[in-house]
Amino acid sequence: MSVSFEGRVAIVTGAGAGLGREHALGLAARGAKVVVNDLGVATDGSGSGSDAARAVVEEIRSKGGHAIANGADVTSAEETEKMVEDAIAEFGHVDILVNNAGILRDKTFAKMDLADFAKVLDVHLMGTVNCCKAVWNHMVAREYGRIVVTTSCSGMYGNFGQSNYGAAKAGVVGLMNTLAIEGARKNIKVNTLAPTAATRMTEQLLTPETLELLQPDTITPGLLALVAEDAPTKMILGAGGGCFAEIRITETPGVALVGDDLSPEGVVAAMGAIRDPEGAEVMDNAFSQTRKYARMGAAARGLP
Ligand code: NAD
Repeated sequence: MSVSFEGRVAIVTGAGAGLGREHALGLAARGAKVVVNDLGVATDGSGSGSDAARAVVEEIRSKGGHAIANGADVTSAEETEKMVEDAIAEFGHVDILVNNAGILRDKTFAKMDLADFAKVLDVHLMGTVNCCKAVWNHMVAREYGRIVVTTSCSGMYGNFGQSNYGAAKAGVVGLMNTLAIEGARKNIKVNTLAPTAATRMTEQLLTPETLELLQPDTITPGLLALVAEDAPTKMILGAGGGCFAEIRITETPGVALVGDDLSPEGVVAAMGAIRDPEGAEVMDNAFSQTRKYARMGAAARGLP
């Protein structure tokens, strides 16, 4: 099935460099009109005002595509609202939002200033919230929306020195879970991309051979699938070097403890069974878990 974005309008944040640039080029190459957002900051979020977004716009236009540059800081609700207003004024509507902008301020938790923790949360989590909020009611009214948030293996699995980044990147998954549920009736599909790529964020960390394999253009096909017409929803797609896998938060069947077993000693004794992954499942929503425990708890007590 061919994937086309003809007639669609997309906003890609942090699209002046790295993955965002590649996503913007990929969307434009398949017909989308693209708002190329970038504040033009260094990897740690300092400075601003490079011409990176404009260069990507020129690149898209030189290939016959349509794009405008936008310099909104995603941490500003006002600026992101204005970005969406400008997109609608220029292209008529917004169909796709790719939340990609990001920074790093790595330090062990012991040495990390709370200001650096808050700044990373602000860019990744509140930046994503601001952009989603700015397009949400527009998408609800049009009964069409495709949104991607960008997480990281640090958020999914943890990484030494990245408590701020990991917390922010896990936070966007929580946001996706609820937006996917709330958007379902309005044809708004919300997914998460978990990339691993050779960009300025990772150039110091990986060998030249690995960097060569993990070029951003090996990831963008996955992003395009997450915002396509028949996109899935509430999916976390791992992507890197042309490899794609689904990341799932699962829950084991678990155990129901009653009587004397409903004690710390009982939980310790049952830990093997509690952690047994056989039959683990993905919960549809928060109440799936509540219903499961109500059912198991009642059965263990011989109640109907
Ligand atoms: P990058 O540094 O090349 O690009 C990030 C872009 O975001 C930059 O152009 C920067 O100017 C922009 N930006 C930063 N703060 C902004 C703000 N407040 N408002 C608007 N724009 C802002 O990094 P990248 O590697 O391409 O990362 C893109 C996304 O992918 C990030 O969310 C990152 O956390 C995530 N990610 C990257 C990797 C990887 O391996 N590179 C792995 C996991 C997740």
